[in-house]
Amino acid sequence: MTEWSDSWYRAQRKRVRNAVARLVVCVIPVAAIVLIGNWAPMLIISILVGMGIMTIVVALQGRRALRERRVLRVVPATDGRLCPRCYRPLDGLRCERCATEHTAEAVRDHWEQYPHHTATDHPSQRGGTRLWRAIQSKPSIGLALVVAMWIVLGVVWALVMRDSVIVSMIRFSNMLFMALGILLLRLGVKRYVGNAMHCAGCGYEQAAGGGAKCPECGSEWGRAGGLIRGRVVRSRGLVVAGLALFMLYPATMFVDVTPGRLASLTPTWLLMEQVEGRQSAGYSSYTLWPVLAARNLSATQDDTLTWMLIREITVAPRGFVTAEWSMLNLRTLSSEQHRGLLTGLIEKRTGHGYLTADDRAWLEQQTLSGTITDDLTDRVTEALQK
Ligand SMILES: [Zn+2]
Ligand SMILES: [Zn+2]
Repeated sequence: MTEWSDSWYRAQRKRVRNAVARLVVCVIPVAAIVLIGNWAPMLIISILVGMGIMTIVVALQGRRALRERRVLRVVPATDGRLCPRCYRPLDGLRCERCATEHTAEAVRDHWEQYPHHTATDHPSQRGGTRLWRAIQSKPSIGLALVVAMWIVLGVVWALVMRDSVIVSMIRFSNMLFMALGILLLRLGVKRYVGNAMHCAGCGYEQAAGGGAKCPECGSEWGRAGGLIRGRVVRSRGLVVAGLALFMLYPATMFVDVTPGRLASLTPTWLLMEQVEGRQSAGYSSYTLWPVLAARNLSATQDDTLTWMLIREITVAPRGFVTAEWSMLNLRTLSSEQHRGLLTGLIEKRTGHGYLTADDRAWLEQQTLSGTITDDLTDRVTEALQK
């Protein structure tokens, strides 16, 4: 039975404290939800859902805190004979519970490095280990990966929702900034570069051939957990960049969804992309129409906007179309659009069973001015009856 180094205990105690602190932070929203529940019992369903989610989060975080404490007590006591996957004591090298075959060195190494590296950093753990090591040595790899994921997400969303690629990318830019911010912050606070062994107490590199004691700080390298893999690098630049990107996150939320006042600052082509994309994606873009209607539009843009107004008036997914009529009445319709509006209104009368006062007024005006082609006259008259 070897003695475990003081640095190991210090690092693991810090992990326990961090886990408990996170648990406390998670409990606060639960308390808040309970208080809101007393104050506004009407919201009971959403409160129950929130409670359910938060209870799961608290339970997971609680398990995490218990595990960290367990590592602190059980690992030195059993000399590191614990399954890295399920945190159960190991009799032999095969875990009875998860049926994983371990090697003595890998398990020992896992627990010696555990307090310094996160569990996912370690080769004995599933997933992304090699990649995360590479990113720690070269943060630009992480940067490129996150940007690539953003592009893929934007393009896939645009294809699936039949939305504009540019608008999709803008829509997800807040996620990009958040992911980049977290990544850079995490790398800047502390990362491990390379595979050389270093003193767990002061970070001094172990020279070839080793030695039992750190010549720099006197820590016992012979004790378990006295040496850690990789050189610790902290970077203020990465922390500042990460924070800056993270702060862009709320700023980007206002660019998309409802541009509101920002719409007047948005270039026409981008507004057009949003309006067209959303119409095909099935969500409304009507708040942007007045902004576009007041702009100087190209012939194509003008045509598109007119068609969108016609579609809104004839399909009327929101019911009321007064604002659309006041915009459309100021526009010149092509003969094709004129016919589209006529047939659309006739179908609306059959489908919805009603026409609004604005719809009727326009049809009546067309009848009076004689702009309805012969083949549609009867149907318009029929639509205006009853
Ligand atoms: Zn296991
Ligand atoms: Zn040292």
